Amino acid sequence: MRLLEVSRLQTHFRSRDGITRAVDGVSFGVDAGETLAIVGESGSGKSVTAMSILGLIDASSGGSRGSIKLMGRELLGLPERDMRRIRGKDMAMIFQEPMTSLNPVLSIGYQLSESVRLHEGLGKKEAKRRAIEMLDLVGIPEARRRIKEYPHQLSGGMRQRVMIAMAIACSPKLLIADEPTTALDVTIQLQILNLMRELKRKVGAAVVIITHDLGVVAEIADRVMVMYAGRVVEATTATELFERPLHPYTIGLLGSVPKLGSSLAGESSRLADIPGMVPSLKRRIDHCAFASRCIRATEICRNTVPPLIMKAPAHEVACHHAMVDAMEQPI
Ligand code: ADP
Ligand code: MG
Repeated sequence: MRLLEVSRLQTHFRSRDGITRAVDGVSFGVDAGETLAIVGESGSGKSVTAMSILGLIDASSGGSRGSIKLMGRELLGLPERDMRRIRGKDMAMIFQEPMTSLNPVLSIGYQLSESVRLHEGLGKKEAKRRAIEMLDLVGIPEARRRIKEYPHQLSGGMRQRVMIAMAIACSPKLLIADEPTTALDVTIQLQILNLMRELKRKVGAAVVIITHDLGVVAEIADRVMVMYAGRVVEATTATELFERPLHPYTIGLLGSVPKLGSSLAGESSRLADIPGMVPSLKRRIDHCAFASRCIRATEICRNTVPPLIMKAPAHEVACHHAMVDAMEQPI
């Protein structure tokens, strides 16, 4: 059994001018101890996928269908009371901008210890001890003094660490990080990534990381899922993705990228820009969503949705013209 199993997930939003199909039939799984990176241009449904897993989609405008199983337990349809217990205890999220999830008027020590008190039922003293321990673990110097400080007194990198401390305080089985390093400089990015790797080892958690940075993918991911217009277009191991991307969209995103294993330090390795625009998600897309931007597009691409199929071992692609030919040549 996989730690997390997402099947045919659809998350749609209603508004006056129609329905946005933010996530439209996404399936994937993550094993314990594994790191899955989700990449794709802005607006491709990465954050909505994460929010859906955590049950954080605002029910007044949006809703999810399909199945999301955590350790075999179906999460979709659970009452908010149960979801609140699962969030924080079984899974936690690190958001892109820590200020939005830290309360500015409460000390970081208070926020940390309240979280462990709530989820683990610890007493005040014990919770404070745990808060200091967590800050230590994420590499915040002078944790005992620092717990009295407020979020605005910390640097961006330190706030990220507090966020991570909050997220892992209850040893979640699943950690979801949505562009956790975007706003940070390269040195701090590396530290945060090392921290996450260390924690994965210590806590044995599975990690889902959403990122625009291919250096981050190379550094930390075991597998990669590429999203476009609310769907998965390619999914494989990180090594395979860098060595043999099959979807024209992925090939475009990779542009000129550093090779797997190359260091993050130095130049940026963000996804390349692809000419053209992401299609509107307000209309049902009954063809290849990438067709209008794809140099390989033919008639079939403009009238049939390419299914996500296994084109090579552990390598799924949704493209009518996936470039498998090169691989089929005799060695
Ligand atoms: P990504 O994280 O890949 O950049 P998102 O998952 O945030 O993309 O968004 C996917 C699509 O869903 C976008 O078109 C976005 O405008 C839309 N969307 C996200 N959240 C909402 C919401 N609360 N209400 C309506 N549409 C939304
Ligand atoms: Mg996002």
